[in-house]
Amino acid sequence: MPRYKNVSCPYSKQKGNKSGKRQDIVEDVTFNLIKQAAIYLPLDIKKALQKAHEEETSQIGKTQLEAILDNVFMAEEQQAPICQDTGTIIFYVKAGATAKNLDVVEAMLVAATRRATEEIPLRPNAVNPFTNKNSGDNTGRYVPLVHWEIVEGNGLEISVLLKGGGSENVSTVGMLNPGDGLPGLKRFVIDAVIKAGAQPCPPTILGVAVGGGADTAMFLAKKALLRPLAEANADSEVAALEIELLEAVNMTGVGPMGLGGKTSVLAGNADFAYRHPASFPVAVAFSCWACRRASARISGDGKVKYLSQKVEDRC
Ligand code: SF4
Repeated sequence: MPRYKNVSCPYSKQKGNKSGKRQDIVEDVTFNLIKQAAIYLPLDIKKALQKAHEEETSQIGKTQLEAILDNVFMAEEQQAPICQDTGTIIFYVKAGATAKNLDVVEAMLVAATRRATEEIPLRPNAVNPFTNKNSGDNTGRYVPLVHWEIVEGNGLEISVLLKGGGSENVSTVGMLNPGDGLPGLKRFVIDAVIKAGAQPCPPTILGVAVGGGADTAMFLAKKALLRPLAEANADSEVAALEIELLEAVNMTGVGPMGLGGKTSVLAGNADFAYRHPASFPVAVAFSCWACRRASARISGDGKVKYLSQKVEDRC
């Protein structure tokens, strides 16, 4: 039996919601998502780390992967965050066009963030860049950042990404020449991985996006980090690029924690937008191995379904 089968489920500890009010449910579900993301590495990433550990040929790389996996299991057993840097909280919300109480959803996300900071606890990671004052509760101007998408229906789908600072610091956008084309994109991504070295705590997960403006490219690259590792882009050309990029970046030899080895990157999730004829933006969003993400859907009648991989298996 896997070690994580023996630990209690974060959802069994959620506070009962007797009011049944949509806004209370949103706060509770969001709190649970943050807690799940902070403590439990998604199963697909855990499996990818285990596979990397089995296949790693560098002894020092293998040792690093072993330490990472020990860290993952220990977090689950002790119900503690996977990493001391619990990241910056980013929400992606798909809101049904006819969903009720949308005006209070953002306040609920902020309330859940404050509660999670205190109860899990999370490291306070929101600092005013002018005064250097830490808000102490992971909230502040544009923190947590909420991305909205209006979809059909009356439900809500909430995804959370806890984005670590070390990997964020090497995320990059390049405004390439349109003539550079896909070979230029590949060079840019490989250079980014080599330049990043140990800083993003490899093996990493890469979000790569091409097109749009600089902002669209980085938005899509970071959003691609939410996609499960085994799920290829629906566009066959982009899916082929993902495979090519993964093979190429793993030939760099950066290796686990930058100490050398064959696993520098666990997956490269790519996306694209149409571009201006004169522009060829390429964005690379790095996530460390601790790619903390979780999602749930709340239907119009208040029913909740947690979407993150195999959450039920852990409960
Ligand atoms: S990059 Fe990721 S694993 Fe490394 S310290 Fe930051 S959050 Fe933790």
